Amino acid sequence: MRSVDVLVLGAGITGISAALHLQGRGWNALVVDAQGPGEVSSRGNTGILERTGFLPLDVPSGAGEVLSSVLGRGPAMRIEARTLPALLKFLRLARQHTASPSVGRLARALAPLQSSAIGEHLAIARAASAFRFFRRTGWLKIYRSERGLASCEVERHFARIIGVPYEDCGAHDIARLEPDLVVHGAAGVFWPESQSVSSPGGVTKAYARFFRERGGEIASGDPSSLEPAWSGWQVRTARGMVAANHVVLALGADTLPLLARFGLSMPLAELCNRHRHFRAVSGVGLSRPVSDVDGGFLLTPMERGVRLVADRQLAPAGRPGDEEAGSPGFERAVERARALMPLGASVEDVPVVGRRVLTPDGLPAIGQVPGAAGLWLQLGSGSAGFALAPAMGRMLAELMSGDPVFVDPVPFAPARLLVG
Ligand SMILES: Cc1cc2nc3c(=O)[nH]c(=O)nc-3n(C[C@H](O)[C@H](O)[C@H](O)COP(=O)(O)OP(=O)(O)OC[C@H]3O[C@@H](n4cnc5c(N)ncnc54)[C@H](O)[C@@H]3O)c2cc1C
Repeated sequence: MRSVDVLVLGAGITGISAALHLQGRGWNALVVDAQGPGEVSSRGNTGILERTGFLPLDVPSGAGEVLSSVLGRGPAMRIEARTLPALLKFLRLARQHTASPSVGRLARALAPLQSSAIGEHLAIARAASAFRFFRRTGWLKIYRSERGLASCEVERHFARIIGVPYEDCGAHDIARLEPDLVVHGAAGVFWPESQSVSSPGGVTKAYARFFRERGGEIASGDPSSLEPAWSGWQVRTARGMVAANHVVLALGADTLPLLARFGLSMPLAELCNRHRHFRAVSGVGLSRPVSDVDGGFLLTPMERGVRLVADRQLAPAGRPGDEEAGSPGFERAVERARALMPLGASVEDVPVVGRRVLTPDGLPAIGQVPGAAGLWLQLGSGSAGFALAPAMGRMLAELMSGDPVFVDPVPFAPARLLVG
């Protein structure tokens, strides 16, 4: 049987970034996926490299908020009633973590990883000839109600402590930044240090190409065939079984069913969104990602057109909701988006569903699975998973190589979440 140093399961931005960092440290890495690189969440996201996002995601908390999510009221994330029982543990833990003083500790743990995220991306992008995708756009968030604006005060509070600049904007400032938006009386917050990419899937594919150019291999295979082998692990690929002493699980939400086979579980959730591209209208432009917070949607310029992301749904991890069903919530967001700026015809026939994994404390899980020698995890980076992937990959490669780790890895240890 063929053997390599490490099997990386998952060819999304997380797996490819880890493989690149391991390769850079001399590991012979084989990436295994059922699809080509960057075909799942790493393609269907908003492409923001955020300098905010050091707080756990604000999930529904308390009976009133949970009920309004189940009833699908307002712009908050919705929850399907049938999935609520399976989500209760996640919601309870997430609520504990969003309470002070936990939130300050978590923000401080994530801040060093966040602050290195853009630099780590750009270092790979430069080497991988992917620089053309990156834009210094900043990120504009618009609030139409006092309540909406008040909701971001905790974020601004920690931005001041951590030293991330932001600018409060009135309607005039918004018009200066984005002259084609119609924003009567709205207020906003501009995060100038955030960047964005014009094609997250394009970035992932370019990184994968770079991995191959340096001698790495990406094989079609079945990660769910993973099993312990004589001295390590083995997995089935299109070219037969391959063994390695180490394996990295970077399968996004689908990591959980695999862990379950080894008697392990984690209290994770998935946040699903729909997105769709719209052609530009002559003479109308958008220069950067713009979130309409009270409207519950985000617009961002991409290679394929203006990408509208909306209709957030919280679901138990590994059990996504009604992907095939139509989405009245998404259609309502399209109407609201058209009121914000003129949009041309839609590019896709139906919206595309994207999934991202959330941990209850908002920190990704990066490190070894206790009690399973050579089994490493890399997941749960939530809404910042695209931005954080290269920094997470570096952290994992340093841990696996026994090198000094550039960010304290303790708060990210998977052991804090694993049950088994
Ligand atoms: C709507 C939306 C907007 C987002 N916006 C942003 C943003 O602006 N900025 C940001 O930083 N992050 C954002 N994210 C998060 C980001 O997209 C994800 O965190 C990131 O792409 C996760 O990458 P990944 O490689 O872990 O997962 P994926 O890209 O999903 O890759 C997992 C890979 O594993 C493979 N796989 C899984 N299971 C199996 C199996 N059983 N057999 C074979 N192959 C398998 C899949 O084929 C896939 O290639 C967003 C996510 C969504 C959904």
